[in-house]
Amino acid sequence: MSDMLRLVVTRSDSGATTQLEGIKPGVESLQMLKRLIRDTESFLHSALEAVYLSCPHHKDPSLIFKTAWDGACCRECEVELGWFCPKSPTRACQYNEDDADHEDCIHCGDPEERK
Ligand SMILES: [Zn+2]
Ligand SMILES: [Zn+2]
Repeated sequence: MSDMLRLVVTRSDSGATTQLEGIKPGVESLQMLKRLIRDTESFLHSALEAVYLSCPHHKDPSLIFKTAWDGACCRECEVELGWFCPKSPTRACQYNEDDADHEDCIHCGDPEERK
């Protein structure tokens, strides 16, 4: 457990700061570095999920705008909530989570993977 990597994200009025904790002074093996990167990726993924859940604005479409990359972004939280979807009540594409094979938006029908 000593090689656990922790990414601490602190959010304040002046912005968000990130800090990595738990990196051993002598990270020499590539294997370990790969594991650290994988841990970071999965952490970031769950952090994004948490941000999405904690964004209280995604039910207010007037605060969601379309980014240059077709993303749905919250004006308040400045977080991207997914693909922009004009037909969705949240303005972001939604997928049926119960059906593992169902990767098309339940509103506009576009697949999760685009381009
Ligand atoms: Zn928000
Ligand atoms: Zn959609």
